[in-house]
Amino acid sequence: MAGPVTLRVAVDAPQHSGLNGPLDYASEQALASGTLVRVPLGRRELLGVVWPGGGGAAPEVALRPVAAVFDALAPLGADWCRLLDFAAGYYQRSVGELASSVLPPQLRELSPEQLAARLAKLERKTARAATAVAEPVRPQLAPEQAQAVAAIEGQLAGGAPKPLLLFGVTGSGKTEVYLRAAEAALAAGRQVLVLVPEINLTPQLEARFTERFAALLPQPLAIVSLHSALTPAQRLQNWLAAHLGRARLVLGTRLAVFASLPDLGLIVVDEEHDPSYKQQDGARYSARDLAVWRAHDLKIPVVLGSATPSLESWQHALTGRYERLTLATRIGGGALPQVRLFDMKALPPSPGVTTALTAPLLAALKERLERGEQSLVFLNRRGYAPVLHCGECQWKSDCPHCSAWRVFHKRDRTLRCHHCGFSERVPRACPNCGNHDIAPLGRGTERLEEQLAEALPGARVLRIDADSTRRKGELEAQLQAVHDGEVDILVGTQMITKGHDFRRIRFVAAVNPDGALFSSDFRAPERLFALLMQAGGRAGRDAAGDTPAEMWVQTWHRDHALYQALLRHDYERFAKDQLAERRSASLPPFSHLALLRAEARTAEAAQAFLTAAAALAQAEGVLVYPPVPHAVARVADLERMQMLVEAGQRGRLQAMLRDWVPALIALKREHKSVQRWAVDVDPLAI
Ligand code: ADP
Ligand code: ZN
Ligand code: ZN
Repeated sequence: MAGPVTLRVAVDAPQHSGLNGPLDYASEQALASGTLVRVPLGRRELLGVVWPGGGGAAPEVALRPVAAVFDALAPLGADWCRLLDFAAGYYQRSVGELASSVLPPQLRELSPEQLAARLAKLERKTARAATAVAEPVRPQLAPEQAQAVAAIEGQLAGGAPKPLLLFGVTGSGKTEVYLRAAEAALAAGRQVLVLVPEINLTPQLEARFTERFAALLPQPLAIVSLHSALTPAQRLQNWLAAHLGRARLVLGTRLAVFASLPDLGLIVVDEEHDPSYKQQDGARYSARDLAVWRAHDLKIPVVLGSATPSLESWQHALTGRYERLTLATRIGGGALPQVRLFDMKALPPSPGVTTALTAPLLAALKERLERGEQSLVFLNRRGYAPVLHCGECQWKSDCPHCSAWRVFHKRDRTLRCHHCGFSERVPRACPNCGNHDIAPLGRGTERLEEQLAEALPGARVLRIDADSTRRKGELEAQLQAVHDGEVDILVGTQMITKGHDFRRIRFVAAVNPDGALFSSDFRAPERLFALLMQAGGRAGRDAAGDTPAEMWVQTWHRDHALYQALLRHDYERFAKDQLAERRSASLPPFSHLALLRAEARTAEAAQAFLTAAAALAQAEGVLVYPPVPHAVARVADLERMQMLVEAGQRGRLQAMLRDWVPALIALKREHKSVQRWAVDVDPLAI
């Protein structure tokens, strides 16, 4: 009989001595890589994954034994382990930490027996007889759609696929292309993964896929979603269904890119430009970029869809690394809304003028109201007013813990910090001088809603933002009211500009978008352009209606190149200008960045760590910029500093990070006052 063997196990060990890879354990039996196990670590027992490359030799030193084996579950695939290895390496995290953070949280709490019971339950559920349904009718594809589908089908059939960039204006039928491509992959016996940026877009898309594939995929759990709003039990169930191959179609947010999919044959990334694809803590991965990597690794097609592609993807399409598929026209002949750049400078000066609701805008809204048409007013700032102000002593509602104002929320009478969450009841008088006459400055969606209701009596105004949708089911109910025509004017943040297939809206107004033009973040114009194109895309999605759909943009800078491109719905023009700027400033996609962040009680302590880190960062072809404070320098009593690292080539940057990050882990031990630090590879917000 063979003695014990050594296993490498990916487990979430703290980073004591560098970026630890899998740890060694002893096992009485050889276990296939990808097997889930429980292993002791210190005094705890943790979930782990048997990692490839263990060799299975007899242990040379005394090793702790594996505590339990989840032998009822098929091992995770070699491709899944490769994805994790790549992502951990690329984003500079330990593979065990990453594995533990992307597996369903409930797995950590289960014993092998409990998991076996769950699997049996799942078996019973999926074995239930499917209800027979007729094949729903599919629309006849428009010629451009047919071309796009043919290209994807060509890749499904084989060859060395390039990532496909589906560049299609809003309402051009991108989703229909995803449906047809998915159908082809499913018919070929493959699993399909569809990623969407926002949890609140999943129910809508899930309904569309479920309706379409009712006949093709009648079994329970053949279509599942994966996102963080599921209950732990649902998430485990759906994850298991995917892992077992029962789920054929998985819809999810960024975390779904790590789903275990043994037959994966197609990945779709909808709204690929969306910043939500980037994880903002822990392993700061880009689900879009990992989707491209995973597809390349498996030699399967990946479709990146957008009306306003990220400049990275667009540049890849220009250089031919990606293949571009274009849908230039809206389905059903609905025209894109006419853009009107309303020049705030041309308004006669008058004390009553507010930057949000100008008289001409109100008149335009009133006209639509009288015609019984729906309008959408977009303002990317929630709350009633961004700050409360005392006219006597100039006190402002700053947050005691952050370098930011606390936002005035009128409905619940609070001053709330949107950075640290610190919240207090609104004072009756100025806390500084006792003056009773304290007033809100500026405007958020709550105030806009109030002003619209006052200015347009009888109009049914509905606000949708993170505050109005805190309770479960609220958002769905509000969206339904919009679809049912029970709302005249919809007010909201970017939450309402994305993805929704509103059929009745014919007028969209952006009341105060200029701020992003002058941001210190070089990606701010790109985000603003995408947001405005998306917002405009909610109007006129139905060709019926005899008035043209319109998008109204109030600006003090109407000649700005961004607005001029918007006026013509000219993404290509915008991209060309932006790429030229990026090239001359050697910014991404013409360079590659990483950001080192540090947080400490004092800015000096954070800076000292970064300065010492810079001294360790000597590498050819890599530029290290001086440390600077974060745009919001203090949050929750911690001073935040950051330092940018830039390289002309991705490989150079990666090589440098491989040496640097372990050195930083050691350096951190000498900088005890640094509370948190992180490396963000390919950072999005700078
Ligand atoms: P996008 O995702 O590009 O914004 P959608 O896929 O949502 O566009 O399509 C917009 C609308 O057009 C949807 O209501 C969809 O059902 C419809 N549609 C898409 N393709 C076709 C087609 N070939 N024929 C008829 N209607 C279509
Ligand atoms: Zn005062
Ligand atoms: Zn705060």
